[in-house]
Amino acid sequence: MHPFSYTRASDTREALNAGRAGGRYLAGGTTLVDLMRETVERPETLVDISSLPLREVTVTERGGLRIGALVSMAEAAAHPKVRTLFPVVSEALELSASAQLRNMATIGGNIMQRTRCTYFRDVTADCNKREPGSGCAALHGYNRTHAILGASDSCVATHPSDVAVAFAALEATVHLLGPHGERPVPFADFLLKPNDTPNREQALGRGELITAVEIPALPRPLRSGYLKVRDRQSYEFALTSAAVALHVRGGVIREAKVAAGGVGTVPWKLSAVERALLDERPSAALWKAAAAQAAHGARPLEHNRFKVELLKRTVERELRIVGGTK
Ligand code: SF4
Repeated sequence: MHPFSYTRASDTREALNAGRAGGRYLAGGTTLVDLMRETVERPETLVDISSLPLREVTVTERGGLRIGALVSMAEAAAHPKVRTLFPVVSEALELSASAQLRNMATIGGNIMQRTRCTYFRDVTADCNKREPGSGCAALHGYNRTHAILGASDSCVATHPSDVAVAFAALEATVHLLGPHGERPVPFADFLLKPNDTPNREQALGRGELITAVEIPALPRPLRSGYLKVRDRQSYEFALTSAAVALHVRGGVIREAKVAAGGVGTVPWKLSAVERALLDERPSAALWKAAAAQAAHGARPLEHNRFKVELLKRTVERELRIVGGTK
C-alpha cells in the first residue's frame, strides 16, 4: 500500500474543503481500501466522511423515498419503508456482497464502486480505466463476465452494483453537494459509459459529495422485484440481473420500469421492454415478447455471447414473478 494521509471530517464544510483540495472521500471503505491494498488506487489523502449526518431514510412529500448516502446497505435493505414501497431496492441489496460487507458499505459508496474486471485489479495488465492510454486487456482476453451493452473500444467492463440497477429502473436522482452548492443529477446521467475516457466513471465535479439517492413516487399499487443470475448463489457478481416495477390498474399495465445489470458498462435501462409492456394486459406471451427486446443493440465479445439469451430469459422470468401471471 502506498503512503497516504488520513483526516476525519467533522462536518460537511470540512469535508468539502478537503475534497476540493484533492482528498478522496472514505465511507465504509469496502471498495477503496481493497483497491489501495492492491495498489490499483493510490490516493494521497483520505477524507473520512463517516461522521456526517447523511444516515436517514425519509419518505418525501410526494411519496418517494430519500436514502442518505451514508445509510449502510444492510440498514437500507431492512428499512420498513424501503421494504414496503420499493421491494426491488431491498432485494437488490440483499443479493449483494456478503452480510459483513453490507453492514459496512454505504449506499453512496455502492453506486461509486469500481468494476470487478480482473484486468483492472491486476496492475501488470493493460487497462485504460486504471492507466489511460495503456490499452484494454479484456477486449481480446478472457471476457466472459464483461459487457455486451454500452462498451467502447477503450473499455468493456460492467458496472458491478445491484442496487444501482434498481435505481436506474426507478429513475432515481442522485443528490450532490459541492463547492457551488447542491445539485440533483438523474441517475441515468450519473454513471458514465466508457467512450474514450473509461477512467471517468461518474458525473462528479471536483470535491462533490453524494448526499442522498432519491426515488420518485410511483403510482400505487406497485409491484417490484429483483432477480440476479450468477455463477454461485452467494457473494458473487451478476452475470445478468433484472429490476422490474409494474403498476397494473384495471387489468392493464400503466407503468413499467425495467433495467438490467451484469450486461452493461452502466446499469442498463430497458426502454424497449418498458414500451412493449405499456398499455398491455399481463400474460405469459407478453412477458416473452417484451423480454425479447432486452438485448437490443447488444455487441457480445468472444466469451460472453451466452449473455444475450440469458438476459432475455432473466427479464422474462422476473416479469413473470413480479407480474404474477404464469
Ligand atoms: Fe480495463 Fe475496462 Fe479493459 Fe477491464 S475492460 S481491462 S477495466 S479498460
